[in-house]
Amino acid sequence: MFSAMPWEPLILGLKFNIRLSDLEATDFMERVCPQCREVTRLATWQLHALFPSYTRLVELEDRMHCRKCGRHGKQAWSLWRAHPPLRVVDPRRDRN
Ligand SMILES: [Zn+2]
Repeated sequence: MFSAMPWEPLILGLKFNIRLSDLEATDFMERVCPQCREVTRLATWQLHALFPSYTRLVELEDRMHCRKCGRHGKQAWSLWRAHPPLRVVDPRRDRN
């Protein structure tokens, strides 16, 4: 799922101000465990399934939990946005 599209870092301004509702469907949060370096990626829909949309992303820091080593607590995180390849649409296709 995450390897099929090109990804670019997403800049939404000050981290403190970013809310879950600011993320689009093609975005994801990547976080790295400071203890074991495990990388976890969470798609926007996964975050929406767990938290209300007005949640600030920094509020999630204290609830972070590494599934690999079991460490609880803040992890460094960043946001990424997918840029699906544009399909060339042939304008003649729908005519007749
Ligand atoms: Zn870990």
